[in-house]
Amino acid sequence: MADLYVDGEWRASASGRQREIRCPADGSHVASVSEGTRADAEDAIRAARRAFDEGAWPHTPERERGALLLRVAGLLEEQVAAFARAESLDTGKRLVESEFDVADVVACFRWFGSVAGAHAGRVVDTGSDDAISRVVYEPVGVCGLITPWNYPLLQAAWKVAPALAAGNTLVLKPSELTPSTSVLLMGVLAEAGLPPGVANLVLGAGPEVGAPLAESPDVDLVSFTGGLETGRRVMAASAATVKKVALELGGKNPNVVFADADLDTALDFALTAVFLHSGQVCSAGTRLIVEDSVHDSFVDELVRRAELIRLGGPFDADAETGPLISAAHRDKVEEYVAVGVAEGAVLRCGGRRPDGARLQDGFYYPPTVLDECHQGMRAVHEESFGPVLTVERFADEDDAVRIANDTEYGLAGAVWTQDAGKAQRVARRLRHGTVWINDYHPYLPQAEWGGFGRSGIGRELGPSGLDEYREPKHIWQNIRPRPQRWFSG
Ligand code: NDP
Repeated sequence: MADLYVDGEWRASASGRQREIRCPADGSHVASVSEGTRADAEDAIRAARRAFDEGAWPHTPERERGALLLRVAGLLEEQVAAFARAESLDTGKRLVESEFDVADVVACFRWFGSVAGAHAGRVVDTGSDDAISRVVYEPVGVCGLITPWNYPLLQAAWKVAPALAAGNTLVLKPSELTPSTSVLLMGVLAEAGLPPGVANLVLGAGPEVGAPLAESPDVDLVSFTGGLETGRRVMAASAATVKKVALELGGKNPNVVFADADLDTALDFALTAVFLHSGQVCSAGTRLIVEDSVHDSFVDELVRRAELIRLGGPFDADAETGPLISAAHRDKVEEYVAVGVAEGAVLRCGGRRPDGARLQDGFYYPPTVLDECHQGMRAVHEESFGPVLTVERFADEDDAVRIANDTEYGLAGAVWTQDAGKAQRVARRLRHGTVWINDYHPYLPQAEWGGFGRSGIGRELGPSGLDEYREPKHIWQNIRPRPQRWFSG
């Protein structure tokens, strides 16, 4: 296979090695793809550098760059079925979820396409008629974009669209487990007319082809989404060249339910908050924090409904959620549950691999509820990235806020109450980058996404998501130059 995309050409890996991609739902063979090497990554960086330093893209009027992104959105819309199918085969997620993801990707390209050129900078008052001052935006340069396996196309789009809108060139490195939609995306970018070298793709393992993006002096910015430990490594590797670093590192997200909430709706959303995509969502509502007075009835009903959730593959019409991404990841989730139980959590449902021949070839793990958790537990603080909910109780508003904020992360959270004042008060006090009131999960390309604390650095989406990829430059012009005579000689 020739599925590395470098300088406008499809090519095989320098090593000639291949990687077999298998569907986590049943182990079936999906594709054989090129396994890139450090040499491939370095070639891709060189191509992106040349395209930035010598090519036309950084100087192309923003409006034209925006028009190209709008063409990309149109092409993606025509190919939703192919993209969604590829995404489901790589990740194991339900086809309908992949279709939603592709629609969100279209919206992302459309939004960045439509804002490109809308804000050319600003004029600054110099306080004098003799000088003009303005702030303009320049592209940062060559961007290394590293993405994970849970939302492969979506997370690539959140980086690729603003990077291109701002006039950068880039090297994209998707997770080794889920490369297919990134390969398809490069085809669409080329079809839309992106010049060679502007967007490049390397496939392969993180330490081999991701690390050079962080280390290289020819890369000006690295944007990474993934786990905290890998994020630390990327940041450390970037330090030597003092490049710009953007990190999205997940969360341990509180879902706070007050007794005065519409409890039926809150319960329904508590299930999707954590069990959507089997919990493999950085903003999953993994910590349910319920007011003491309604805890017992709320959790009883939640457990009853969690036990009814049907597992199955992407094309199984009956399935409501899919498998975990890999055997190693399932082992990690199992260990996390064992730790929670050993710490004293009450296992209310799930907690063991499902029976039934139909599910034995995939990495399935059932919705699992750990009740009677408290802040001292590891299970409450560490990300399982699986379908595991911890439940804690709170006594009053201050207690709820304290528990919700007791995490090193700070990505997202929700508050459920019919008291509008309380909802706003709590929303303002939560130290998380997104707060939903009486809802869970919606996001918009025009609103910032990102975290407080160790959930990362910087923001994706929204105007700030574009600013990540731009360098502000102050241009001062003296329009009546004459000697200053500061020095007397
Ligand atoms: P990683 O953080 O290891 O992977 C994310 C991306 O980083 C992948 O493309 C990976 O490549 C790449 N990578 C790995 N090592 C390096 C390196 N040294 N330098 C540069 N890039 C590197 O995620 P995992 O898949 O291992 O998942 C680990 C945990 O991360 C999960 O259990 C979960 O807790 C969290 N996670 C968070 C996500 C989020 O949205 N914030 C998304 C996914 C996971 P490759 O995979 O090809 O080796």
